[in-house]
Amino acid sequence: MRRRRNAKIVATLGPASSDRATIQQLFEAGADVFRLNFSHGTHEDHKKRYDIVRDIERETGRPISVLADLQGPKLRIGTFANGPVQLQQDAPFQLRLKSDQAGDEAGVALPHPEIFAALRQGTDLLLDDGRIRLRVEKCGKEIADTRVITGGPLSDRKGVNVPDAVLPLSALTEKDRRDLDFALQLGVDWVALSFVQRPEDIREIKEIVDGRSRIIAKLEKPSAITHLEAIVRETDAVMVARGDLGVELPAEQVPAIQKRIVRTCRQQGRPVIVATQMLESMVSAPVPTRAEASDVATAIYDGADAVMLSAESASGKYPIAAVRMMDNIIVQTEADPFHRQELDASHTPPRPEVADAIGFAMRDVTRILRASATVAYTSSGNSALCMARERPEAPIIGMTPRLSTARQLALVWGVHAVLVHEVAGVTEMTDFATATARREGFAEAGQSIVISAGMPFGRAGTTNLLRVAKV
Ligand code: PGA
Ligand code: MN
Repeated sequence: MRRRRNAKIVATLGPASSDRATIQQLFEAGADVFRLNFSHGTHEDHKKRYDIVRDIERETGRPISVLADLQGPKLRIGTFANGPVQLQQDAPFQLRLKSDQAGDEAGVALPHPEIFAALRQGTDLLLDDGRIRLRVEKCGKEIADTRVITGGPLSDRKGVNVPDAVLPLSALTEKDRRDLDFALQLGVDWVALSFVQRPEDIREIKEIVDGRSRIIAKLEKPSAITHLEAIVRETDAVMVARGDLGVELPAEQVPAIQKRIVRTCRQQGRPVIVATQMLESMVSAPVPTRAEASDVATAIYDGADAVMLSAESASGKYPIAAVRMMDNIIVQTEADPFHRQELDASHTPPRPEVADAIGFAMRDVTRILRASATVAYTSSGNSALCMARERPEAPIIGMTPRLSTARQLALVWGVHAVLVHEVAGVTEMTDFATATARREGFAEAGQSIVISAGMPFGRAGTTNLLRVAKV
């Protein structure tokens, strides 16, 4: 089974997509990666979905990626005594670290000591996805007196964002550590870390994960944008998490930042996912708005590796239609000749490294010979990433003896992953490559393919070989 597009689709699983039939249809409609969102649901819920995905993978013989998304240090207020309160503009409102009594119009609990340590006079706090804004007038270790700048209704456990402060928080909470442990035991391929603030956050999780999965940095804090280059270098992949990013920063800044993140990731050869509200209205309607269709297309024109569905596929009324719509938009956009022009125009020169140089040469050789496919024989996935970085016109087959690599590559632009046996030498690899390209429908007898690999085989980071073969 072969997709008819290069960019990939990430679909979040949730209450609306937990049974075998629905997940199967999501896959058939185009979902390449399934996201388990650990902000919601129990371990048991996630395990059930995980097992179904692996079952579908077995039946179809196509590697499928599973992404565990950790909640991260999402901050929340406490509860109110008598239901939601109405905050009036200019009224005082108190935030209390330790609070036995439930909240009211005068104040509410905020059980996060790190926030109090970081607040200063004049710091703004955003509540409920940015709907309410409070400004700190006085702050101690346990009490913050604020003024309501933008009022409105406020109810139990709403989220709190503090855009201006770098909070002395680990990106991994106790809950995240338990969820991570569970997800790694399941065998997920990617782990996404929320509210990354600095490159150290990535190093911290990498140490725990210890190669058992790959890491996605969710960029949704201004401080992550400040350290963008360093974070992209440290992580395996990136998510443009526009939901929280658009709370922490004014919405009008998000488009330029999205483009900057995608550009930086393409330059450094890191897969990048554009996420959140892409087809938001399809949560309750069978068709998207024109603006949403255009938003998906923009990410594709920019050359993102993947676009993501959240509530649309997890809790909406039309999960399958949403995936199908995304698939159609990607196919149509990629068919536009201007799309190729855009990709080429936004391509950056290879870094002065062997793997990048091989990828670059592969792209030229493929074009000159009109080769019908490129094949990366790869155990770590690195050769395939270097090819994908070039965004070549011919499809990329990621041929790998490692199941985890095949699954991880499901997220990467243009890569069709195929699991093969370990090969002993270049001749055998070439035979495998031509046979695979033919069997999977990428080349016919007499056509050329271009193969890249790393010698010695089986060692990561050795991409150094380019070979042309006839099928
Ligand atoms: P979330 O992350 O859905 O886990 O909050 C994505 C985002 O913030 O955009
Ligand atoms: Mn988020």
